[in-house]
This record gives sequence, structure tokens and C-alpha cells, in this order.
Amino acid sequence: MDTARALSENLASLLRREHSALGAFLVALADFDRRRAWMTLGHASLFAYLHRELRLSKAAAQYRKVAAELIQEVPAVGGALGEGRLCLTSIVEAARVVTAQNWETVLPRFFGRSRREAMEVVAELQPQPAPPTRTIVSPVRSAPSEVAAGPAFARPTLALEVGAAGPAAGKCTPGSSSELTDREVDTSAHTRRPAEVVPLTADLRRFHVTVSDRFLRKLQAAKDALAHTRPGAMEEELLEAGLDLLLEKAAKRKGLVSKPRKTPPPAKADHIPAHVKRAVWERDGGRCQFRLPSGEICGSTHQLEFDHIEPVALGGASTVENVRIACRSHNIISARRVFGDDWMDRYAPGKASLPADTG
Ligand SMILES: [Zn+2]
Repeated sequence: MDTARALSENLASLLRREHSALGAFLVALADFDRRRAWMTLGHASLFAYLHRELRLSKAAAQYRKVAAELIQEVPAVGGALGEGRLCLTSIVEAARVVTAQNWETVLPRFFGRSRREAMEVVAELQPQPAPPTRTIVSPVRSAPSEVAAGPAFARPTLALEVGAAGPAAGKCTPGSSSELTDREVDTSAHTRRPAEVVPLTADLRRFHVTVSDRFLRKLQAAKDALAHTRPGAMEEELLEAGLDLLLEKAAKRKGLVSKPRKTPPPAKADHIPAHVKRAVWERDGGRCQFRLPSGEICGSTHQLEFDHIEPVALGGASTVENVRIACRSHNIISARRVFGDDWMDRYAPGKASLPADTG
């Protein structure tokens, strides 16, 4: 624990130096650009200088170029970057809406935000005018590497785009090229990507997901099956109805249904009654309550379990006071703290595959 603390302090100190160096670099770059020094050195643009002479990737160069331009308009951006309050990836988003006139109120809204969250702030401040709702299905060519991997991966996949449509997130400040990430720059190989979400307004998102032909056939079958009860249902409506069913099923498994069963099964020692689960879930807001060394709670909503604070094996009861929500990792960490690693490895080697309501 002490070693981990010392290592962590070293990392925090290195991170502060990284932020500070980045801030200093960008302030100097803004000055370099203001003097058009790149031109004197024979480059076509600041971007070309960063890419060719400083050997930054196109994406890295683009982020720095946008930041340097914004610093010239709003010098406070340099300080925020140096203190680590503003991250380089969200700068591209901030540059769309932050101006010399509004920076005092608008800039702080980007502090501590990821690029995705920054996009949401922009969508809120500058909603795209009346985004039309549409569904597009287009074939996606398999990347050569996928084809080589075998026939199972060689099938073309299909991209399903649901929701309000709008221009892709590619464009940033006027005059800048659209290179944003290396992946977006080099799209020669279409690989199967994770779902992509682009915020359009405060509550509209464009959702782009690559699916199989099988998925589309199921979607069509669902449309047909519901043609009477939900005529003309949009894809979003059908998918949301399906998700509701899944969530309802998951809630039942966690004992969160509001109607308790008439005859409960005989209780095991570690059984947690449904009313306790409901109360704990509500109290903890459906989030992991494990306290991190920083004093904050983990807050994860992933792989949640009901965790006995005082373990059942040590006489802990399944009461609202003694049960909390913990993510699987923190449930295991808590158990290891109580029982020790030796005991856990010897008697509970399968601890990583716990059923949902033990702990
Ligand atoms: Zn957790």
C-alpha cells in the first residue's frame, strides 16, 4: 500500500509536469504562429510545420494548431491547459464556441471534460438547426486483414445509422482541415468499429453502429411483427422497446421488481431479501459505493453486485445497513481486504465469477 501510494504520487507529479510542459509549448506555439515564423522557415502552414518539421502525427498537429489559434484569441486557454483543467482533445470542441467575448463564461464549461462531453457542451450551446431524423443502411467493405482472417470475418457488414442526422464531427474552426484523429485521417481500411455517438442538440444524438445482415433481418422481423400495434414504428422506437425488455429482465434478476413473489424460496445464509435489494439500490443510486483513496466513491454502473459490508462468514446480516452496491472488481477487492489474498486464492479461486447476489 505504501509503495503504491509513493508510485502514485510520482505519477501525479509527472502528470503535473506534462500539463505544464504542454501549456508552455502551446503558448510558445501561439507566439510562433502570431509571428508567422513557420512561413519564414518555408512551411505552407502552421499545421505543415508541426507535421513535417516537428514530426507530429496529423492528428497531434491538428490539435496543437487549433489550440495555438485559440490561445491567440483567448490567452486564458494557455493557462487552463498548463494547469490540466482543459485537455487537448476537448480543445477542438471548445474552439467552436469559445470567443474573446464569451470565454469567461463559456471556457469553464469545458474544464475536466472529455472530448465526448465537450461535444455535448457544444451541441447544447450551438444546436444544429432542426436535424432531420433518418435511418441509413450502407454496406461496409471488410478490411483486408479481416478477409485474411478467414471466411467467418470476410462477410461484408452493414452500418446502421439511427437518429437525427447531421454533419459528422469532423469540422472544427473555419479554415482548419478536417483531420482530427489518425483513425479519421487514414480511413483506407474499413474495420468494424464500436458504436459512434455524435451529440447534435441537448437531447438528440446521432447513433452510428455497424451491424450484421442477420441483425437487420431481425429488425425487419420485429417491424413486421409489430406492424399492427406500432404501425410505422421507427428503428429507434423498436430498439428502445427491446432495450426496455432487457432492462426489465435484468431488474428482475437483481430483485428490483416492485411486486415481490408470493412464496419466496427458502433463504440461504447469504440471501438478500428483495425489499432490502430495492432499498439498497435506491439509496446507492445504482452505483458502486466503494470509497477510493481520494475519498470519492467509485460510482461505476458496470457489473454491479450486492456486497455485504460485514461479510456473512463473519456474522454480517443481509440488512439495508449492512449491504451496499459494489462493482465486481471492488466486491473482490473488499473481500481480499477482509480475508487476505492467501485465503481467497485457496478457498475462493473462482471469486472472479461470482453469482450476482453474494459477497
Ligand atoms: Zn467500483
